[in-house]
Amino acid sequence: MLTIDDVFENFKLPLTKERKDLIYRAFLFAQKAHQGQKRRSGEEYIQHCLATAKILGQIGMESKTVAAGLLHDVPEDTSVTLLDLEKEFGNEITSMVEGITKLGRIKLRESREEYFLENLRKMFLAMAADIRVVIIKLADRLHNMQTLRYNPSEKQYRIAMETMEVYVPIANRLGIGEIKGELEDLSFKYLDRENYNYVKNIQEKLYKEGEQYVNEVIREIKKELEKRGIGVIDIHGRAKHLHSLYLKLKRYEMDISRIYDLIAIRIVVPDIADCYETLGIVHKKYRPLIGRIKDYISLPKPNGYQSIHTTIFGPKGRILEVQIRTQKMHTEAEFGIASHWIYNEFEKQKGWKGLFSKKSKAPKESLPWIKQLQEWHQETGSNQEKFLEGLQIDFFKNHIFAFTPLGDVIDLPEEATPVDFAYAIHSEIGNRTSGAKVNGKIVTLDYQIKNGDVVDIMTSKDDKKPSRDWLNFVKTSTAKTQIRRKLKRD
Ligand code: MN
Repeated sequence: MLTIDDVFENFKLPLTKERKDLIYRAFLFAQKAHQGQKRRSGEEYIQHCLATAKILGQIGMESKTVAAGLLHDVPEDTSVTLLDLEKEFGNEITSMVEGITKLGRIKLRESREEYFLENLRKMFLAMAADIRVVIIKLADRLHNMQTLRYNPSEKQYRIAMETMEVYVPIANRLGIGEIKGELEDLSFKYLDRENYNYVKNIQEKLYKEGEQYVNEVIREIKKELEKRGIGVIDIHGRAKHLHSLYLKLKRYEMDISRIYDLIAIRIVVPDIADCYETLGIVHKKYRPLIGRIKDYISLPKPNGYQSIHTTIFGPKGRILEVQIRTQKMHTEAEFGIASHWIYNEFEKQKGWKGLFSKKSKAPKESLPWIKQLQEWHQETGSNQEKFLEGLQIDFFKNHIFAFTPLGDVIDLPEEATPVDFAYAIHSEIGNRTSGAKVNGKIVTLDYQIKNGDVVDIMTSKDDKKPSRDWLNFVKTSTAKTQIRRKLKRD
């Protein structure tokens, strides 16, 4: 059973009084709101909130995000409203919680393929608006996966599938290796139990006999590096995640003897020069396998991952992989995007307030994830130029993303109305618009759509003329042009 102390103990940033107070206040609020509610596991509901908050703190998120993590299910599952939250915690935390609620609200299509794409898009959009919302969602999903066994089996399969297809790639994109690996292995377990058990058995057997050996190599390398004046920050063995091991096994005809990175030794050193020096020292002591040196420091992986990998003949001729990286690379590999908040701590003194401070413009080069967002955006087929423009104006600041009841995303300018929305779908839908519902409630046609709204357009069956009045409030040129054209033509 978790307590709020577990959240405090796992909080990675310095736990100032201000931060502690905020997190504690969010905890008390959530505890009261969820009073009497239970999870399927039979645990108190607050356990889920604490688990989510603990994960967020562990990967280095700041206190507002941790607080939002504690509160993330309050508006959805209790009688407390967003307005109540706003009074208590202000706008920033409330809008994060609102974002999470909206992400969960969109209905999904039947077809798997479409469902997958829509989900990716919707996560992406939330990310562009406030990436912290997506990180909370990842932590929320991780705990739900950890407790998936309490769900009925067909639900287990569906949730595991969604996790593998949507959440794993997102965690990977954001470079949060820690969460990605665990989500992936948990999904694997529910999606393909036979192969999961097969790989797990292999790994357990190998660890049992390999552990002592690895510890021996670690001792040897450490001694050698210290002798040569390298300040080793950390050296440890790392186990390959089960799903990535399985994928690799499949590539090698399930021949385990051809896989050299089952257990790897990871060396963390102070700076890049130390990395290359360490590589030289390791190669001098153990013969490297030809063609197996990968320098991801000079050529980082697409998600920003940096390290040097080499495969060596260790003592007794056994083959194993060695990974060399700096502390910064290590933090980024484990926590990805979240590690930026850790660096912000150090940048604060220099006046850089962080990613989401409205006043400061963060230097673009220091945010590799922006580049990732762009690439991703390209892959999902959106207009790249428009996207870049969007970035310059403070991430889609003038844009609104609204959704159809089926989950399609409609990109609109600020203050757009249901009529703009209707014309953005199709001119014929625009022309026949007779009314609109937003998030299930009837609204007037000049209603101003807000980011994340689910808009349902009601149309009349017979051919209908648009109203001239609409020209007074529509915002998009598409709507204006189409309305004028229709009025002129008839
Ligand atoms: Mn939740």
